[in-house]
Amino acid sequence: MRMDPPLDKAGEGLSARHAAAARWLPAANFMLAEGIDSCPIPIFVLDRNHVIAHWNRALAALSGLPPERQIGTCNQWEAFYPSARPTLADLVLDGALEDRINQFYHEKSRPSPLTPGAFEAEDFFPAIGDGGRWLFFTAAPLHDEAGEVVGAIETLQDVTEQKRAEQALRDSEARYRLLSITDGLTGLYNARHFFARLESECERASRYRQPLSMLLLDADNFKQLNDTYGHLEGDCVLQALAKVITDSTRSTDTNFRYGGEEFALLLPGTGLDEAEQLAHRLCAAFAGTAVVLSSGIVIRCTISIGVSQFRPGEKPAAFMHRADQGIYEAKDRGRNCVVAIDADTPG
Ligand code: GH3
Ligand code: MG
Ligand code: MG
Repeated sequence: MRMDPPLDKAGEGLSARHAAAARWLPAANFMLAEGIDSCPIPIFVLDRNHVIAHWNRALAALSGLPPERQIGTCNQWEAFYPSARPTLADLVLDGALEDRINQFYHEKSRPSPLTPGAFEAEDFFPAIGDGGRWLFFTAAPLHDEAGEVVGAIETLQDVTEQKRAEQALRDSEARYRLLSITDGLTGLYNARHFFARLESECERASRYRQPLSMLLLDADNFKQLNDTYGHLEGDCVLQALAKVITDSTRSTDTNFRYGGEEFALLLPGTGLDEAEQLAHRLCAAFAGTAVVLSSGIVIRCTISIGVSQFRPGEKPAAFMHRADQGIYEAKDRGRNCVVAIDADTPG
């Protein structure tokens, strides 16, 4: 804030004007100091030698460093950093340009849209408060009557709660997004996500000419299983199957439950032979799994698997159709088996 002395009356000489200003200024300085000190916004002011001239109560509360310890020293960094370095106010006082300021604030600072020569930045300060605080801070140069820079003022705003609320919102959005693409029974991805990923993986495989294979799994005689043990016990079997799938696949593979008792695996970077081997392992692993129903009865179930490899440029539906054909063929062959359909196989 600039405070000009009151206008002198016309005809008053230079010395009279100086005398009036000298009477007025100490009072104005005192009021300014009071204003800064009682302001609820944390503020410090540096003189031209980087010595702290003001360190208000709000900043004392935020930093835990009282004014009587700070004023008259160059220890402004102590409130914010573990070792001596320039604060934003120090950089502004030195007339630092944007590049240099960004060196210290890692692209998190920018010129203030309000005040020429001022900069603002936002950063996390781990040592402030309990668990650290996010601060938004602005530093502006202070000028004398002749326009010379004679100091700098820095104001700080604790935006931690706002940052936490933003993070909580992002987290909850991510949770809802995950829920919307997750199958509630098995925890695998659902059909919606399967068809979205199928598109994107086919596009990627076409663009980078990388192999991509698919396994479609269908539980055998599941209607009969439900009829015998009940639908809820059937659900336990589906969960056991999902676990076998998850335990047998790599992090680059993505597993889906895309229908009632139908599952899909997308295997980027995997050719038909390798995919077929995985299908055989899955088939054997599930057939060998003793599923304990909630009634205590132990049963064993089987799956049929169709395998296909993506042919670059083809439609995702064609790629999926071959795996589907593989399932039909596997059912025809008596179930609990794997059929890979090559792209050249007529069908
Ligand atoms: P196939 O070996 O030819 O696949 O015979 P299937 O009985 O498994 O096939 P079908 O298509 O005749 O029946 C599928 C069964 O899967 C019928 C349906 O009740 C059951 N099913 C679908 N979704 C669920 C589910 O979420 N939970 C349970 N428990 N059963 C389901
Ligand atoms: Mg089915
Ligand atoms: Mg079935």
